[in-house]
Amino acid sequence: MDVRLRDLMLGLRDLNLAGAPVLVHSSYKSLGPVEGGPETVVNALVTVFKTVIAPTFTYKTMITPLAGPDNNGITYGSQQDQNRMAEFYKPGMPADPRMGVISETVRRYPRAKRSCHPVLSLAGFNADKILVAQTLNDPLAPLDLLEKANGWVILLGVDHTVNTSIHYAVRITGRRQFIRWALTPRGVVECPGFPGCSAGFPALAPEMDKFARKVKIGEALVQAFPLKMLFKVVAGLIKKDPLALLCSREDCEECNAIRNQ
Ligand SMILES: [Zn+2]
Repeated sequence: MDVRLRDLMLGLRDLNLAGAPVLVHSSYKSLGPVEGGPETVVNALVTVFKTVIAPTFTYKTMITPLAGPDNNGITYGSQQDQNRMAEFYKPGMPADPRMGVISETVRRYPRAKRSCHPVLSLAGFNADKILVAQTLNDPLAPLDLLEKANGWVILLGVDHTVNTSIHYAVRITGRRQFIRWALTPRGVVECPGFPGCSAGFPALAPEMDKFARKVKIGEALVQAFPLKMLFKVVAGLIKKDPLALLCSREDCEECNAIRNQ
């Protein structure tokens, strides 16, 4: 049977997050068929939660230059084909398909706003104060405000690999960030404070599990995590092992740049 608006609302209410703001990472397909499509999911989110934010990153603006700073987790001069396909950042650019259709639907939702980073924008409903905190130099600043507002991260049918808040949590422990570049109408813009690889983030799951609230909606497992605890757990893991949460891929340039610094 198709998932209906009521199923979504009941499920999301069962997470029991009261009026907390939420950052939602999602896979629409994980739910199974939904009556009314992704709009139904977003309607449920904005009905149940006062403030809803979703990632609307735009990777196709990214450019790899021929040269740049050392130990930056990147092979300069590679990706020339992608450079040729790169698109100028525009505020109305759709979110990368990897963000999922629910995120893109949040972006297009009436009265939703979007922050203005050329690669790492977020879109949100009733989230203006959190979104304006983002700057070119501090792309993850909204996560700080979200944590201070006792916010939660919701993973709807996805795992910690896509959990952007972990990037912020590792950054505030002092972990190296990178410089990347984006094509904009003003030319190629340097984007400092760029987070690294997230393939190792699922290693956090066993530690975070005790703070998770979980519901099943349709075929999807929906998990919510309080940001305050997420930040504490990440800080604890990195204190024990400064290389925690890096991935195990031998050729991962970003994780290796952190190991080699
Ligand atoms: Zn990696």
